[in-house]
Amino acid sequence: MSSAGENLTDAMGLQFEGHHRGGLLGGTFRDPSGLPVVNVAGCPTHPDWVTETLMMLAAGELRPQALDALGRPRFYADTLIHHGCPKNEFYEYKASAEHLSEIGCMMEHLGCIGTQAVGDCNIRGWNGGQSCTRAGYPCIACTAPEFEEPGHGFAETPKFAGIPVGLPTDMPKAWFMALASLSKAATPARVAKNATADRIEVPPTLRKPRG
Ligand code: SF4
Ligand code: SF4
Repeated sequence: MSSAGENLTDAMGLQFEGHHRGGLLGGTFRDPSGLPVVNVAGCPTHPDWVTETLMMLAAGELRPQALDALGRPRFYADTLIHHGCPKNEFYEYKASAEHLSEIGCMMEHLGCIGTQAVGDCNIRGWNGGQSCTRAGYPCIACTAPEFEEPGHGFAETPKFAGIPVGLPTDMPKAWFMALASLSKAATPARVAKNATADRIEVPPTLRKPRG
């Protein structure tokens, strides 16, 4: 974050400058045990990620293959923020919040990139259970290089011709658009109504079996 803007302090990573290998120690640095720099990413980083990394190091369990391509420990970097987000039902139907206080999915209008951001924030909650998206704020991928300068407001979704440009990376855009349009058409009234409310207005109802 301190490298944002004009980077007045010349802040840089130890082994990366943004997405690029390099940094203060150089891209090929290895410690005597063969480990590159371990990047416990996040702004701030999850306290459990720090503790678990230190415990693994102390136990000699943190080997190079336990890190991803950016040096982030895979015990949290193999998971997406989207996994375990309580707004998943809204995401499935593309039932979107329009303002930060609302409980729908924040991908379409409010800048959430939890479908592309690594971390287990919605599985291993912060401070006993919370996360950005649980608290009603979009995931801004603070575990990713260069997240600090997205080129738009953190709580805005950049769009082209009305379509969000930052769609999930592991799905062809045309499929996503087709599925999104089908999902929107099939959105239950309960989900659509609740998406733009700041609390559950329409609870689930039990349907009695016939006969
Ligand atoms: S708010 Fe973000 S993380 Fe949650 S379901 Fe929507 S896209 Fe996924
Ligand atoms: S939810 Fe996203 S922005 Fe929030 S701490 Fe986790 S990775 Fe960072």
